[in-house]
Amino acid sequence: MKRVGVLAIQGDFEAHAKALARAGAEAVLVRRAKELDDLDALILPGGESTTIAKGMERLGLYEPLRAFAASERPVLGTCAGAILLAARVENHPVPSLGLLDVTAVRNAYGTQVDSFVADVDPGAAPGLEGLRCVFIRAPRLRDPGPEVEVLARVDGEPVLIRQGHRIAATFHPELTEDPRVHRLLLADPPAKIDVPRGPR
Ligand code: GLN
Repeated sequence: MKRVGVLAIQGDFEAHAKALARAGAEAVLVRRAKELDDLDALILPGGESTTIAKGMERLGLYEPLRAFAASERPVLGTCAGAILLAARVENHPVPSLGLLDVTAVRNAYGTQVDSFVADVDPGAAPGLEGLRCVFIRAPRLRDPGPEVEVLARVDGEPVLIRQGHRIAATFHPELTEDPRVHRLLLADPPAKIDVPRGPR
């Protein structure tokens, strides 16, 4: 069984641990660099990216997390976690890890529709059709670089992207029963999905 770490500083890391169990993996809550050592993959959960970033700084986790990603082990960031993976952050920027060539715009859906549920647009990557997405004060992902694959969109906007072994979702896959996003992390070798090159 794969051991998958969940960064447990703030946010809904418990829900991710349960989702990992549903997807057939062992979840390990991570608060120290040393706990990254014997993991197969890692999740940065949703929550408040400002708070999580402060905790990462206080615990000295920025370089260990970058080293983890550099070891080519899969990393999934959801919502606040996606913001923390991005190379660029707009609208009250937080110090991010710079692991995904994309711009995350925080709280980009405004206050009127800051939380909603939507299915992915037709044309999602094979195996991800019909995925239901829960958005909670979600960011938008802009300007994906040439190495970034858009695996799924909602209303034409990228909501699930991947660059090599690094995956970001602007929604909360841990809040539905559908294990498909978590399984992307567990595939061995890591899931390779051929994405039709659509508009970017
Ligand atoms: N709005 C939060 C942020 O900018 C993210 C919300 C979430 O993770 N659900 O950090």
